[in-house]
Amino acid sequence: ERSDRSEEQVSGAKVIAQALKTQNVEYMFGVVGIPVTEIAVAAQELGIRYIGMRNEQAACYAASAVGYLTGRPGVCLVVSGPGLIHALGGMANANMNCWPLIVIGGSSERSQETMGAFQEFPQAVRSSIYGRPGACYVDIPADFVTLQMNVNSIKYKECCMPPPVSMAETSAVCMAASVIRNARQPLLIIGKGAAYAHAEESIRKLVEQCKLPFLPTPMGKGVVPDNHPNCVSAARSRALQSADVIVLFGARLNWILHFGLPPRYQPDVKFIQVDICAEELGNNVRPAVTLLGDINAVTKQELASKKSLPMNYYTVFYHVQEQLPRDCFVVSEGANTMDIGRTVLQNYLPRHRLDAGTFGTMGVGLGFAIAAALVAKDRNPGKRVICVEGDSAFGFSGMEVETICRYNLPIILLIVNNNGIYQGFDTDSWKEMLKCEDATTGAPPICLLPDSHYEQIMAAFGGKGYFVQTPEELQKSLRQTLEDTTKPSLINIMIEPQATRKAQVNIAKQKEGKASTP
Ligand code: ADP
Ligand code: MG
Repeated sequence: ERSDRSEEQVSGAKVIAQALKTQNVEYMFGVVGIPVTEIAVAAQELGIRYIGMRNEQAACYAASAVGYLTGRPGVCLVVSGPGLIHALGGMANANMNCWPLIVIGGSSERSQETMGAFQEFPQAVRSSIYGRPGACYVDIPADFVTLQMNVNSIKYKECCMPPPVSMAETSAVCMAASVIRNARQPLLIIGKGAAYAHAEESIRKLVEQCKLPFLPTPMGKGVVPDNHPNCVSAARSRALQSADVIVLFGARLNWILHFGLPPRYQPDVKFIQVDICAEELGNNVRPAVTLLGDINAVTKQELASKKSLPMNYYTVFYHVQEQLPRDCFVVSEGANTMDIGRTVLQNYLPRHRLDAGTFGTMGVGLGFAIAAALVAKDRNPGKRVICVEGDSAFGFSGMEVETICRYNLPIILLIVNNNGIYQGFDTDSWKEMLKCEDATTGAPPICLLPDSHYEQIMAAFGGKGYFVQTPEELQKSLRQTLEDTTKPSLINIMIEPQATRKAQVNIAKQKEGKASTP
């Protein structure tokens, strides 16, 4: 009926293949037959990999796994009737796994009007990968496959955009951060949703910065490597049982996780649920906090919210450890500063750590650091001395900064400053207290003057002083001091005045306690 014979004709099958190609589909699995064989041929011609399988069920399993692995839906190509019925197992499995999948089935011929169904293609791709990923089915009438069309009359919908990334509500992010911070025994459970979300980088950071133990589900394995020191897989039951706060990253509280219920869990365990699917939130348990959004984005939100808060010991030492040269001398004194520092800061050489020692003496640090700097200068040129001091400990021998400067020893002094001995006040609470009290009668004896600028002591003698309040400032000042091998420096690191060490849990005690409560 067309008048313009010069225009190239194209078959419906080719149009389907091109539409898939335009949507960045790379793989097609299937069992061909009438009327879909032409679609497989056309797909192959366009560079889509076609893998012919022996049963639609296996083809469908394969296509859904490709979707999980690549983030773009795999296609399963089937004939109508029995082909589609066989594919149902794979579709159900993809849906249960939340994996994207497009099943294309050929049905019998239809009248031309319904061919508009072809327009469902971009929607099909979108519905498989947007929101909670899953399976979708596109039915192609047989007469569409064989139809010849004018090539110029076809407009392919451009590739749909990658799934929009949604973030959780800010208040929920803060609440989650506070619940995790106050946890006695927190645990992250990393599921295949986290794997699918490509959240490995951000989750690893969270694990390491917050010193959080984690447990992968079977397919969450490898998001953070199994051999990571914080992986508690080897003690799975114990980890689940003793956690008081559990963060679920793309893992559902189904049978795999014993429904989140006792006796496998503490009856009062607080769940923080991160999921992209609102309907999943609150399934089986009543979560303490729900974070609706993409796991990678939400994890970054959590990391950012941590940055805006005052740092704690673990944040500080995490960043220090990242930059410490392996062969440096570490001198340390203080209470929490020394105790927590010991667990995070690594030593790789003998006789390279000096601290308060057997006698638990405060005030030894700067003398030790001076000695180490001299030994380094004479015998190991280039080795650095890092002296990690609590603010109170520093006070015992702070004037030795003058000695350090007089001999120009390039020692790096870090003061982890919590405004006190063990704990302190923040500036506002201190001022508030002074309004009604004489400090000698009212101030807790453990408090030191808040926000003291110890770095100015170093500056007073010609060394370099830094006052830091955020991880970024800490990273930057550490980098600068390590680069400058000619000068002593002091970094005064402000942390949360109430920051403490994570409680050490005695599981045996805890159980006794539980048994005796009615
Ligand atoms: P596992 O078997 O590893 O426990 P599940 O399949 O039970 O994992 O849970 C995966 C969860 O991840 C699903 O609830 C799904 O909605 C969710 N999910 C999938 N992709 C994302 C994403 N990008 N961001 C957040 N949640 C996601
Ligand atoms: Mg202190």
